[in-house]
Amino acid sequence: MKLYRIKKSNIDNKGRGLYATMNIKEGTKIIDYIGKIITNKQVEQSNKYDNKKPIYLFTLNNKYTLDGDFSWNIAGLVNHSCEANAQYEGKGLKVWITAQRDIKKGEEITCDYGFSFDKEDYRQFPCKCRAKNCCGYIIREESRWRLNKKFAMSNKRKSINNFL
Ligand SMILES: [Zn+2]
Repeated sequence: MKLYRIKKSNIDNKGRGLYATMNIKEGTKIIDYIGKIITNKQVEQSNKYDNKKPIYLFTLNNKYTLDGDFSWNIAGLVNHSCEANAQYEGKGLKVWITAQRDIKKGEEITCDYGFSFDKEDYRQFPCKCRAKNCCGYIIREESRWRLNKKFAMSNKRKSINNFL
């Protein structure tokens, strides 16, 4: 029996997500993330990989990227959450998703998409995960504090402007 099933998502209300069909123990491999191997050069040179694409691209090493934007890549349906219960793991040219903690039957399986604040235009990717610690954008955990800092600063500036 598969550990997941496809269902309308609570996070992405236009889309679907994967839900646990049984309790899943921390560390369990849930699903392979499959796609086409392309070169990093192709990513840089083709505008096919702009816009919504980055959420499906995994840089595998300094030469290759995995493009998972295909309908047959079921793992591509996994939504981002700022409080993810699963994570991407990889070795060589393979990527898969494992449980980051124990996941209860019926829970939506979520990953941290891991966008870096520096590289991507994060404003293209608002986050609606509803986690308490949601930072509003799909950005990997280590980079979120920078966003918060930036917000804090722009708020401060606003209040100063109100004074003037
Ligand atoms: Zn979020």
